[in-house]
Amino acid sequence: MTARILDGKAVAQHIYADIAARVAARVAHGGSRPKLATVVVGDDPASAQYVRMKQKNAKAVGIDSDDHRLPSTATTDQLLELVEQLNRDVTVSGILIQQPPPAHIDMTRVIAALDPIKDVDGAHPLNAGLIALGLPGGVEPCTPAGIVVLLEHSGIPIEGANAVVVGRSNLVGKPTALLLLKRNATVTLCHTRTTDLAGHARQADILVAAAGKPELISKDMVKPGAAVIDVSTNWVDGKQVGDLGPGVAEVAGWLTPNPGGVGPMTRAMLIKNTFEAEVRRSGA
Ligand code: NAP
Repeated sequence: MTARILDGKAVAQHIYADIAARVAARVAHGGSRPKLATVVVGDDPASAQYVRMKQKNAKAVGIDSDDHRLPSTATTDQLLELVEQLNRDVTVSGILIQQPPPAHIDMTRVIAALDPIKDVDGAHPLNAGLIALGLPGGVEPCTPAGIVVLLEHSGIPIEGANAVVVGRSNLVGKPTALLLLKRNATVTLCHTRTTDLAGHARQADILVAAAGKPELISKDMVKPGAAVIDVSTNWVDGKQVGDLGPGVAEVAGWLTPNPGGVGPMTRAMLIKNTFEAEVRRSGA
């Protein structure tokens, strides 16, 4: 078997076309133009590149963006000050703090300080709590939302599927498990203390690899025909690779390219969340 491609780039284009039309209609009717504020702390080149791509995607659909940079020496309090300023700014629809920040930044405090309405990555405890409780109104985090939309758009059944998520971070693994559960998958969440990762992975109709470990998932860990989502962005010899070992494409039924699978979907969901944040913020 050779896996069919789960083409994140192509699905993202559908989302951009939809948002571009909604932004144009909103502005034509006198509504406010959404604006995304991006925040980067430090000089990590990958973070700078991701933020440039996000701003380019925003511009292409008619969403404004502001780029805020703090030096790597910035303190948590300085970042909190910027967040407060962006919370108060009525022209800002959504705030995206590019992760990871330098290690000394207390992201728990920073995320809790975000106005939940402007929290376009669904990280604030209020949004995360609504998602965890399965209640309406929470913002779905970009990468997990991108994964489920990519599956849905590709016609892969989630309801009733055995879904195995490898990785339990608050950013990716845990919310991905919750969003799959919300869509009625039977979900197993694996991590470093999981005793039989291969055994769990082999049961998966949908396997999400988000451990950040190159070649963690070997082809004998994949159920024939499974949909395999390779979230991770590991850098090996200057090249982006995911968590999959060689030959997975021969066993899987569906596979995300990496790059070109989850990354484009993450950015598309950020743009969608920014538009929806402006609708909520402005009340129209
Ligand atoms: P993270 O915070 O480092 O979490 C990694 C998770 O994987 C942890 O829960 C860890 O378990 C688990 N893990 C690590 N090694 C494992 C192993 N050998 N077996 C089983 N579980 C293992 O990373 P993250 O923020 O979730 O990101 C995961 C990856 O996705 C990274 O490569 C990141 O760059 C990438 N990413 C991509 C996108 C995108 O748009 N494509 C977006 C966000 C992140 P413990 O909890 O037990 O330590």
